[in-house]
Amino acid sequence: MPQRTVPVSSRLGDVRYEIRGALSRRARELEAEGRQIIRLNIGNPGLFGFSVPAHVRAAVESHLDRSEAYCHQQGLQPAREAIAEREQARGAFGAHADNVFIGNGVSELIDLTLRALLNSGEEVLLPSPDYPLWSAATVLNGGRPRYYPCPASRGHLPDPDEIEALITPRTRALVLVNPNNPTGATYPRELLQALVQVAERHRLLLLSDEIYDNILYDGAEFHPLAALAGETPCITYSGLSKMYRACGYRVGWISLSGTPSRLTEFRTALDLLSALRLCANVPTQWGIAPALDGPDTMAELVGPGGRLHATRQAMLDGVAQSEFLDVVAPQGALYAFPAVRTEQMDAFDDEDFALDLLQSESVLVVPGTGFNIRERNHFRLTLLPQADEMAEVFLRIERCLQRQAAR
Ligand code: PLP
Repeated sequence: MPQRTVPVSSRLGDVRYEIRGALSRRARELEAEGRQIIRLNIGNPGLFGFSVPAHVRAAVESHLDRSEAYCHQQGLQPAREAIAEREQARGAFGAHADNVFIGNGVSELIDLTLRALLNSGEEVLLPSPDYPLWSAATVLNGGRPRYYPCPASRGHLPDPDEIEALITPRTRALVLVNPNNPTGATYPRELLQALVQVAERHRLLLLSDEIYDNILYDGAEFHPLAALAGETPCITYSGLSKMYRACGYRVGWISLSGTPSRLTEFRTALDLLSALRLCANVPTQWGIAPALDGPDTMAELVGPGGRLHATRQAMLDGVAQSEFLDVVAPQGALYAFPAVRTEQMDAFDDEDFALDLLQSESVLVVPGTGFNIRERNHFRLTLLPQADEMAEVFLRIERCLQRQAAR
């Protein structure tokens, strides 16, 4: 009898996550053969020598004996209160501990909120390039991504008129990632205000992924969307992974803001879905209040003299010295999204390039098309290595591009 393979859901057909995809598997094979790969595909600070602030870690450790039971489906009360206070202090209308939900990372909450929101065939406005979990979770929950462009030619900023032109009667939500992964763009206040107006005019739910909100370079400003949205319903996503270098803790949260009566049903749906998965990891939730109430330990890393500041500069220098590269200087977050000038390289393809770079130069980056863009000349790398390693990476990238141009 021929062996029958286990069939999988057809919903997975359009789902991809190149950040941990085929190239990452190829990198593992090369490592197994003894190669040392410079892995720049994931924004995972703990792998680059960053550590969780000591007071946050100490709070988790000292609460282990109070972490053995499930907690409330929305999360620990002191943690939710600290999150709500932060949101209130930032001006989020209607923010309250009852409207905060803690999850196993923002990742879980992206899925949960879209599951609560979408009926089959309903549309979500997503940035292109996007953080690909947003597209995946939209599709897996029966929705359809509608991409609004954020091209390099505009500093990777969206255009409210272009977004409005994409809206149909089936459109339910507008997703913003600010500061942006993968581009590093931060959105000006006037732009955000215009986007709030679009959402209000068309009764869209605002979904604002602000997981990088304190990772800002060169005096860049960050404006929390909830503070500008006022009574317009808005979900703000944040967590410990990036701002407190605690990716492995798997702690994220959402805060609902806007006129409470407009969110009643949605809140009830979130409560049910949260209850079905019982609760988020309890031990690491004890780190939330100390993190939010403590010092901003990111400032010294991103400011002049700081490690991330130096690496970003090494990236900018590498691009400036390149014969082939351009980049919009990232204003925030942990990534750069350079573009390759392809005039000299007719057949340039971002996936071929990334594979070539991995195999010939032992550098792992993510091809731009993994972030749902049409252009095939971008790649993303994280700014987390040391500055001298970043300088070395750009020498290798240049060597690889020179070979490709000579083909
Ligand atoms: N949102 C964005 C924009 C991200 O870049 C990431 C992770 O890289 C996440 C959400 C998920 O973060 P976590 O699940 O660790 O909280």
